[in-house]
Amino acid sequence: MYFTNITGGEPFIRTDLKEIVRELYKLSDRIVISTNGFFTDRILDLCKEFPQIGIRISIEGLEQTNNEIRGLNDGYQRGYTTLKKLREMGMKDVGFGMTVQDKNAPDLVPLYKISDEMGMEFATASLHNSFYFVESKNIIHDRPMVAKNFEDLVNELLKSNSPKKWFRAYFNHGLINYIYGQKRLLPCDMSFDTFFIDPYGDVMPCNGTKDKEVMGNLNRQTWNELWNSPEAEKVRRKVRCCDRNCWMIGSVSPAMHKYITTPLFWVAKHKLKSLFGLKYSMYENPICCQLRDGKVSKEDLDKLSTCDLSAIVNDGLSEDSKEALKGKRGEDIVNADVMGQGYEATVAEAKNDIEIK
Ligand code: SF4
Repeated sequence: MYFTNITGGEPFIRTDLKEIVRELYKLSDRIVISTNGFFTDRILDLCKEFPQIGIRISIEGLEQTNNEIRGLNDGYQRGYTTLKKLREMGMKDVGFGMTVQDKNAPDLVPLYKISDEMGMEFATASLHNSFYFVESKNIIHDRPMVAKNFEDLVNELLKSNSPKKWFRAYFNHGLINYIYGQKRLLPCDMSFDTFFIDPYGDVMPCNGTKDKEVMGNLNRQTWNELWNSPEAEKVRRKVRCCDRNCWMIGSVSPAMHKYITTPLFWVAKHKLKSLFGLKYSMYENPICCQLRDGKVSKEDLDKLSTCDLSAIVNDGLSEDSKEALKGKRGEDIVNADVMGQGYEATVAEAKNDIEIK
């Protein structure tokens, strides 16, 4: 694999994360972990062993906005402190990850500027609905306002001298297209060259589908059996007709590499324009003009989104996952895990004491 993203929940809840990363590096050229940055010590400890790893800390805006959205009083400070410490240790591949919604859109450019001053990466996303997020009611309400903030970010990125940032500008241009419910700018090839594995060993094309689409399970199949199975083929047929039009970096980044001419042409055109002082405008997307001119309504666009206000909440678990959880509640598993971690730490401390004595 050329790239692996470890995500959650919160990956650093797991005390065996280092072992997972160690094993993954045997198979993957590059690894990035998405985290809330809360477990500073665990993150720094892991980075000491793997200085080449990427760390993206989810920060949802400036301090007050972030803490309100994340529900953590000191969430911003903890995330920011972790990032600063990682920089001080010389980690190169670190940055912010922000999921843009109505509430935090005005913080988009200010947060980008902070990350830029710190010499960090700045990854963006917007609201999605799926079995994995156990949520079907995510929606952007004020599309023109959110798109205007993305437009400003695109112009900031195009001003820079970094080709990587110019391609990020294209990604953010795609986010405007996504929040207006339009067809993806690039094909989606999830399940053909990219996949998603959950903690129960279920392999899926992605984490964006409405219901969990399982290609197979690694606890009972080898990789080759799974990848070439009729179930996997069935899922691939569904992916070919998928109309969810997600625009998340996990499915867009491989597509941008594979269908490079489209983003390359866009980048060349817009960088050249910016050199002549001409700015990118969200109204280059015809749908933005149609909404502004009253040719489509907000309600029409709401219908194009994946938001389903009447959806029955789906726990997103496959049969294998349900079997693994039989007779247990999620809280029981987490509590047992935390107890186990405390126990291991106590044993380690005791051993240490004995050795010192
Ligand atoms: S568009 Fe792609 S990433 Fe989104 S649900 Fe469909 S297959 Fe998955």
